[in-house]
Amino acid sequence: MQEHGQNWEDVKSSLIQARSKDIPYEKVLSSMCTYPHPVAVEAYKMFIESNMGDYGLFMGTYELEKNVLAMLGDLLHNSRPYGYLTTGGTESNIQAVRAMRNSCKSIKDPNIIVPASAHFSFDKIADILQIDVRKARVLSDLAVDTKHVLSLIDKNTVGLVGIAGSTEFGQVDPISKLSKIAMDNSIFLHVDAAFGGFVLPFISGHPSFDFSLPGVTSIAIDPHKMGMSTIPSGALLFREEKMMDSLRVDTPYLTISSQCTLTGTRSGASVAGTYAVMRYLGKEGYRQIVDRCMKLTHLLLEQVKKIGVNPVIDPVMNIVALSISEPKKIRKELATQFGWQVSITKHPSSIRLVVMPHMTEENIIAFVQDLKTVLNS
Ligand code: PLP
Repeated sequence: MQEHGQNWEDVKSSLIQARSKDIPYEKVLSSMCTYPHPVAVEAYKMFIESNMGDYGLFMGTYELEKNVLAMLGDLLHNSRPYGYLTTGGTESNIQAVRAMRNSCKSIKDPNIIVPASAHFSFDKIADILQIDVRKARVLSDLAVDTKHVLSLIDKNTVGLVGIAGSTEFGQVDPISKLSKIAMDNSIFLHVDAAFGGFVLPFISGHPSFDFSLPGVTSIAIDPHKMGMSTIPSGALLFREEKMMDSLRVDTPYLTISSQCTLTGTRSGASVAGTYAVMRYLGKEGYRQIVDRCMKLTHLLLEQVKKIGVNPVIDPVMNIVALSISEPKKIRKELATQFGWQVSITKHPSSIRLVVMPHMTEENIIAFVQDLKTVLNS
């Protein structure tokens, strides 16, 4: 850090220079984030200094948080959810597993069972919480094999995890079967709907994945993904207050006497952004967004099939994985020749495309044209 401050014009020009190196979302098919809705941005700016880590000072923002939880509860079939707004899916998953572990203090060597397709946040969880994270295999449709889940349960199992919208393939695990297994074995069931939580409720005939299933004890859902909110915006919802309470620590020097959150200082601006966009769009607005993304997903599918490329699974939501040999090489060529950002999956190896609201019909067609060029070169 330099001794003397710089003038704002110079600082700003270095910001502009840095910004010009960021990739605009229009060329990004690899991200689960997108441009936040303008209403979320406007609200975010209004609450920029609000700190939910000491919400006694920001009771207005706290009311907005309660309101967001109620709206999310309504979306996920729970009229009285307990929880809070997190920094995203990783924090929500950590806290959900921490609550399972803390609620079973008598188990000295606890384990949880997650699908092999679970997000890498569960590897962080194994490390941070020092809990055995057992991975259940997936079937050919890339949803978890519930028979294998069952076989991994033992007396030290505190809970299961199901995914409603897997990171790589957008697959939904059979949550209703997991719910039954969890109930039969008196263990918790966390649903990672970080991505799918703002997609599935707006697709007609979607599989059940939320609190309507009696075994589901917590859900992660991310407003900063398909919820069109500002980063960082995640949410963790519990069915029962006692799970939330299991996370509580005393906070002697704050205006509030305890915290259940993982982070201390917390963005009230994100709370306001999420509140605003959810109120502004309503279910109808989200339905239109999801509808458009799904139409673009089907257009993408139709176009790639015309050039002889097939999906790994029929897309359940707006994520498509393409069966292509040498995906790493193709990914590199798409980026260097045409500036497209795509990602690759591990098992099975493929090119992964997330069709977020920033995508357009023209860009989908242009992408497939460029993919064809790369595949033929
Ligand atoms: N869970 C799922 C299913 C995800 O797809 C992701 C991110 O891609 C996460 C959790 C982690 O979310 P975040 O990056 O917001 O922490």
